[in-house]
Amino acid sequence: MKPHLSHFHISAEALSGFSRLRTAVWVYDFDTGHIVWGNEASLRVWAADSLEELRSRDMRVDMSLSVTQRMAQYREDFIASNAVFSENWTLYPKGKPLTLCVIHSGIVLEDGRMGMLGEGLEKEPVDIETLRCAEALLHTTVMITLFADDGHALYRNPAARAVVGDIAETFAGHFVDNDVYKTLASQVKLTGAGRVVAAVNTKSDICWHEVAARFSYDAATGDPAILVSEVDVTELKRTQERALHLATHDVVTELFNRKYVMENFPRFLDLVRERGFEGALLLIDIDHFKYVNESVGHELGERVLVDVANRLRSCVTGSQDSLARLGGDEFLIQTMASDIDSRTRSLIGQIQTQFSKPFHIADRSIPITLSVGVVYFPKDGPDATTLMKHADLAMYHAKNNGRNRASYYDPSFEMVGRADIFHNGALHSALENREFTIFLQPRVHVRSGRIIGAEALARWNSPRYGMVSPDVFVPACEEFGLISELGAQIFELAAIEQKKYVQQGRPLKISVNISPYQLREPSLVQTIERIMLKTGCSPDYLEFEITESAMPEDNESVIKTIHAIQGLGFRFFIDDFGTGYSNLSHIQKYPFSGLKVDRSFVNVEIEQRKLAEMIIMMAQAMGYSTVAEGIETEEQLEWLRQREVDEYQGFFFSKPLDLERFAILLRNEDAELNRQKFRSVS
Ligand code: C2E
Ligand code: MG
Ligand code: MG
Repeated sequence: MKPHLSHFHISAEALSGFSRLRTAVWVYDFDTGHIVWGNEASLRVWAADSLEELRSRDMRVDMSLSVTQRMAQYREDFIASNAVFSENWTLYPKGKPLTLCVIHSGIVLEDGRMGMLGEGLEKEPVDIETLRCAEALLHTTVMITLFADDGHALYRNPAARAVVGDIAETFAGHFVDNDVYKTLASQVKLTGAGRVVAAVNTKSDICWHEVAARFSYDAATGDPAILVSEVDVTELKRTQERALHLATHDVVTELFNRKYVMENFPRFLDLVRERGFEGALLLIDIDHFKYVNESVGHELGERVLVDVANRLRSCVTGSQDSLARLGGDEFLIQTMASDIDSRTRSLIGQIQTQFSKPFHIADRSIPITLSVGVVYFPKDGPDATTLMKHADLAMYHAKNNGRNRASYYDPSFEMVGRADIFHNGALHSALENREFTIFLQPRVHVRSGRIIGAEALARWNSPRYGMVSPDVFVPACEEFGLISELGAQIFELAAIEQKKYVQQGRPLKISVNISPYQLREPSLVQTIERIMLKTGCSPDYLEFEITESAMPEDNESVIKTIHAIQGLGFRFFIDDFGTGYSNLSHIQKYPFSGLKVDRSFVNVEIEQRKLAEMIIMMAQAMGYSTVAEGIETEEQLEWLRQREVDEYQGFFFSKPLDLERFAILLRNEDAELNRQKFRSVS
């Protein structure tokens, strides 16, 4: 095969002219790894007996990896441009080293593929040091480039050539960030050398290189030049970045974590001061997240957290705002503005809009509400610790006032300190000292308007904190494994009341809330039986309420426990219906007698009661007793009347009352009724 020298427009006759040259010339085929043609002189250089013998050699057999890579690189360079490379090569024909200055250039082979033309000039004997040095430069993985003073490249070793995207790239053009280049260039100018780790342009991507540059001279011309050596540290840099990211971010939501927030707090406060702004912290806690997590499972619980994070993220749009997940179901927004109050209120408005729609996770619709505690800086505290403590108090104030709201910190909040409740064993001693009481809220018959029962609502009458809401201590008791004890105490108090009213000849249905954690305790059945015997209460007039959103799906042991309690004569109601995500088949697995429609469905404008209407119709169709919660107006009551709802509760009739006041209310009602009876008789 004769090579076709189209790159150089040399004819076949001229090729035969090459044969007589004293310079060794050969043509190499990259794909086969064979020399396809060589002149007389090349036979000597390669110590070949004949051209046939030379052509039969497979050059790849003892080609090192770095040379193989370089060959591939050469081919690409030849295709891309009319590149010419000259290198000192030491060949080992028949084992003896022979040093040549080889000039490599591209040559198109007969079949159109790119080959390589080699011209080997035998060198004067060179000193060993220089030889080894030249070899090292060819083989090293360090990228070495010599730039002229004006920035264009005079020389690149193979490692540098292998990564450069554009042969014409200048020293400055190598850097992604021009400021980094300027810093390095000025270091070289001032001190003669410089070093940076920088993002640089390469053929494949932007990479991170450790770049060392030093002032030098071009050995060929004596002109000033810059010698640059580079090592790829992309992997290391990414590992470092990942480690930093992991240390400062939460893995589930990719938001900043508590550590980051706390470490950056002083910077945030400084920035607020510098700009002459005011700052705000919004401490956000998901309501009943524990229930959501337990009911949907940990994995879907994480999906909920990610979705919550995304909705919050969409509210935090200001360049001054930042959002973090502090852990569990707690998030924090930091913001600053000249008018911090209106900024905060608009943020809270956005959050409310975002969370007004339920979440859709794995075919389920899950409503999520938030309790938010707000503190202002500097008004509410001078430093991170104080501000966070106050934000916590404000958030617990929001929980204490029925959740799904924002509370702005006020010094009076010191009363109910979550930290105190959580850390000093206050709940333990409160249970020991029997500080828990019940309030009773009347359950009223819609048609007759008569009190037919009451819901027992737990209160902690703490000598230290005053009256504490169950929204604060019930989750805390659940967390500390104290809920069974609390539940037993509350049930006993309710049973005593129930027995008392039976004895007075005024039987009342009393309902008691029960936590799903209690239902998981196998001992619950015995506890209820024990209290029943101890107090002599009548199970026919006692009911248990289970919050819908807290009901575990398909939990055989829970269903068994409910059946066992029902076997004792008690009835079960599903509480806060509509706030969960139960489907009907799920509810039917449980032996419920009735359903309480959550107050958020009826306690709205009339045109928004479509869902309430549906829930009521469905419950009636399934034969459930219906109770509406949170009735606050005559209009709402009339609406219930038209829909033949059985019972209602709400501030319109009465707030939950302590036992004494409840007894008075009941006595007054009975007296009024007797008067009416007397009037109608006489
Ligand atoms: P729940 O069982 O749905 O109780 C109804 C809540 O709505 C009560 O809040 C009551 O004060 C409030 N409420 C009643 N009528 C109205 C109204 O017209 N408007 C408004 N805005 N609110 C009204 P409370 O007493 O703070 O109880 C909160 C929740 O704590 C209860 O919700 C229940 O889930 C839980 N809880 C209360 N006592 C116990 C208990 O002994 N054990 C367990 N496990 N949970 C309890
Ligand atoms: Mg209830
Ligand atoms: Mg309820």
